[in-house]
Amino acid sequence: MNRKLLLLSLIFAVARLQAKAGDSHNWKTDKKAFASAEVDPRVYPKILNTLDAQSITVQESEFKLKVEELTGVREVRLNGEVARIVERGSDRGRQLARQWLEQEYKALGFVVSQHNYGRGANFIAEKKGSSGKVLILSSHMDSMSNAGANDDGTGTIANLLIAKALAGTSYKHTLRIIAFDNEEQGLVGSAAYVKTLDKSQLIGNIQMEMMGTNSRKDGKFHLIDCDRKDSQFMTSAIMQSVQSFSLPLTRVKACTDRSDHGSFWKANMPSVVISENFFGGDGDQCYHEKCDIVDARLDFKYSSTITQAVGNAVAKLLN
Ligand SMILES: [Zn+2]
Repeated sequence: MNRKLLLLSLIFAVARLQAKAGDSHNWKTDKKAFASAEVDPRVYPKILNTLDAQSITVQESEFKLKVEELTGVREVRLNGEVARIVERGSDRGRQLARQWLEQEYKALGFVVSQHNYGRGANFIAEKKGSSGKVLILSSHMDSMSNAGANDDGTGTIANLLIAKALAGTSYKHTLRIIAFDNEEQGLVGSAAYVKTLDKSQLIGNIQMEMMGTNSRKDGKFHLIDCDRKDSQFMTSAIMQSVQSFSLPLTRVKACTDRSDHGSFWKANMPSVVISENFFGGDGDQCYHEKCDIVDARLDFKYSSTITQAVGNAVAKLLN
């Protein structure tokens, strides 16, 4: 092959790789997932024990306020300096977001750290249990260089509010909360992270994706396990929480691996992902667009209800 041809084919190969990576996180292009969306008719058993009776509460107003802090609507104080986190695509924006998360989780008494993997860094906050087993609650902290209020500001704040609700109670197992980096680049942060994980210590992973749009006010949401046997116990725990507390939520099944839960599945580890009813006809019109900001299209009551459902399930899974 002559040099010119070699160069051309190299450029072509790189462009193809980039297209693939860019596509791997794009829910809009996941035709199979759209085709698979259907309302789950299953009735999950109610389990009203004492733990269930202490339902965690999540305030809609607090949910909104925290998303506003994470997306530059409100100023934040980082190490005594005033800052605005207007985007989470650049190195600087993601660094500010990690700093803010560090401050928030430290205030709740969590032990914070970072997992650096070269191209980026995952943020980790932990509340230790005694068993040596770990439940991972995750989201992605990066955005498409936009405010990313819904994607994935809502998932990231949901986890912060679950942490707050559970901070004062002791649990048998460790709760580890991770805000993955570079999800939008093709699940880069989570793929690097699962390589460091010991499967025998992992109970499972719950990934919290965009959960802000409920435009039809029907409370439909995705809880996705793609019928994986190793992951269905988390679906059951969350749906039991929905039914025990009569939360106004309806599960719509669909199957996609295009968020950080996909990295866990690839490594053969149990995982589920939660989101708004994206594939069932209620996806965010501002998905991956500049208009993904805090405005009236986001229903924080709905986001708080999903957070409550997951938070109660997490409390149960930690014991
Ligand atoms: Zn996302």
